[in-house]
Amino acid sequence: MLQAPHWFSEVYPHHGSAFSLKVSEKLHEEQSPFQRIEIYETEWFGTLMVIDGCTMVSDRDNYLYHEMMTHPALYTHPDPQTVWIIGGGDCGSLKEVLKHPEVGQAVQIDIDERVTRLAERYFPDLCSSNEDPRARLLFLDGIQWVREAAAESVDLIIVDSTDPVGPAEGLFNQAFYRECVRCLKPDGILAQQSESPLFHADLILAMRATMQQAGFAATRTLFFPQCLYPSGWWSGTLASKSPTGLSGFREAAARDKPFETLYYNADIHTAAFVAPEALGKRFHLAQ
Ligand code: SAM
Repeated sequence: MLQAPHWFSEVYPHHGSAFSLKVSEKLHEEQSPFQRIEIYETEWFGTLMVIDGCTMVSDRDNYLYHEMMTHPALYTHPDPQTVWIIGGGDCGSLKEVLKHPEVGQAVQIDIDERVTRLAERYFPDLCSSNEDPRARLLFLDGIQWVREAAAESVDLIIVDSTDPVGPAEGLFNQAFYRECVRCLKPDGILAQQSESPLFHADLILAMRATMQQAGFAATRTLFFPQCLYPSGWWSGTLASKSPTGLSGFREAAARDKPFETLYYNADIHTAAFVAPEALGKRFHLAQ
């Protein structure tokens, strides 16, 4: 029997399930202008960040999400020099993006400066590349950022946001995707976290359809484990302006990557895009 206050639990009421971590201490809690942020020390997952009751990042498993939200898109793009990360305030995606020497500038645009300040204090490893001269940290609404940015000014946009409610809701609609299409260069790619294939397959299908209606020519979804998030099975969806933009990747470069990863490699890259039977049929029907 799980008993407060020794467990943090996130309940998924629409899916009759929950995820719990044994905690040893609540380190911090605050209401920022945008969301409620909590930090816990857990017994087995290191430090844990929770936003509006939803698990965001833990020391133990964040590498799965951060590596898979970045490296597949970076090795799919032919020459990613400029990268925007919308959201991503814990700075874990920024750290992975900056491992790529061809990236000349990575701009992180998170609406909530408090997420980054708390990450600097409680997740110093994730923030270890924040001083890289190629990094730029902005605290703005990502929707406003893409609306005001110049046309064809970026190679890769990574949307590392909270779930599509609250401040992140507008990062999942056609108006936002249209602005992304406008801002991306002709071989540009958008990569977005797209929730659980088990719990949110309809959302993934709707997202891909909306991306195509907004002007993206191709979409593909990749899958990876992530025990911290609902169902333990997560996804990212890529969209390219070019019809052939997602049909291959720089495999030789990925095999010879000049940096360490804990999960991503060239074989994982290929495998991650293979859709399981039931989902594969649904995705095929949707195209
Ligand atoms: N990996 C996490 C997940 O999928 O649960 C996401 C982590 S990251 C901390 C999510 C970030 O998105 C938060 O820091 C939040 O402030 C940011 N965010 C939400 N809406 C946003 C918006 N409209 N513009 C920019 N950042 C936004």
